[in-house]
Amino acid sequence: MSGERIVVAGAGGFIGGHLVRSLLEEHASVMGVDMKPLDEWHQLDSRAENRRFDVSDLGACRDAVRGATRVFNLAADMGGMGFIENNKALCMLSVLINTHLLMAAREHEVERYFFASSACVYPDYRQDTPDNPGLREADAYPAMPEDGYGWEKLFSERMCRHFSEDFGLATRVARYHNVYGPHGTWSGGREKAPAAICRKVAEAKRSGAREIEIWGDGEQTRSFMYVDDCVLGTRLLTDSEVDEPLNLGSSEMVTINQLVDIVEEIAGVRFRRAYDLDAPKGVRGRSSDNALIAERLGWEPSVTLRDGRERTYAWIHDEVAALRPAAAA
Ligand code: NAD
Repeated sequence: MSGERIVVAGAGGFIGGHLVRSLLEEHASVMGVDMKPLDEWHQLDSRAENRRFDVSDLGACRDAVRGATRVFNLAADMGGMGFIENNKALCMLSVLINTHLLMAAREHEVERYFFASSACVYPDYRQDTPDNPGLREADAYPAMPEDGYGWEKLFSERMCRHFSEDFGLATRVARYHNVYGPHGTWSGGREKAPAAICRKVAEAKRSGAREIEIWGDGEQTRSFMYVDDCVLGTRLLTDSEVDEPLNLGSSEMVTINQLVDIVEEIAGVRFRRAYDLDAPKGVRGRSSDNALIAERLGWEPSVTLRDGRERTYAWIHDEVAALRPAAAA
């Protein structure tokens, strides 16, 4: 990949930080961009050029992508269900990020553009039972995505497609399904279920509590992809000639209760579960059908849920342990 100049938007976030590290392993010239101050980035690799830009602004996008050969857009104002169910306008405003990055990428003749879409583009009516057979790419239409966040992702997918068709900008789109791993958000209200469960278990273990709270009845199903698999799949798709959106996720479906079982087993504890049926819980059942990505790219996740959860729990456990006792209680 020598000669490439790569820009990663959202580099201060979870997946963006891992992607920057992965790209740097091949000595590519990488610029990480995020609106957060550098000391708040989840990972900061000094081998990259790390810049603070608000890429919802067209002028900032022009500055960020000037001279770039590739742009990865992983910037979005997002979080877990607790955030996206209560911040629909903020989620939809991420449309400015993708739109302006596309416009700047076109102006600066970027060779390849990647957009991180989401399983939230799939309609509610295909996810109303826990035994979901796996969402196929074609299931996204007729459209009825997750309100707010999902509509923005679906619209932005189409914007990528039309920039490709009308202006010849090569765009690639992955629909991520629940990504987890170290260096993700694990507290503060934007965390997603896999991180929240690790935190609850680590905190309860530390404080001696006997009970943890679970959102919903715990029988809702999901599949979870370890971040290293996500980064590899993202790079593979971006390098490929596949210009239609592809699922990037795991097809290993579990209930939230099973996910809690795994974390408790790793931590060597067992807690009573208090189910909050009024908490945001999202769709009833979701998993990824990986037939298309297997056929087109030969990709499938390589990290088992058990292994990935062990690595994630170890990291979150240490983060919780590093807190002052009062803050962790
Ligand atoms: P994240 O919240 O950790 O990272 C997103 C980053 O974007 C943050 O650091 C944030 O500061 C930055 N950002 C937001 N607005 C910005 C702006 N205007 N200018 C510059 N930076 C801005 O999220 P993540 O989990 O790393 O997700 C990366 C991408 O993947 C997002 O587009 C997200 O919607 C998508 N996605 C993630 C998951 C998942 O499970 N994590 C699932 C589906 C889709």
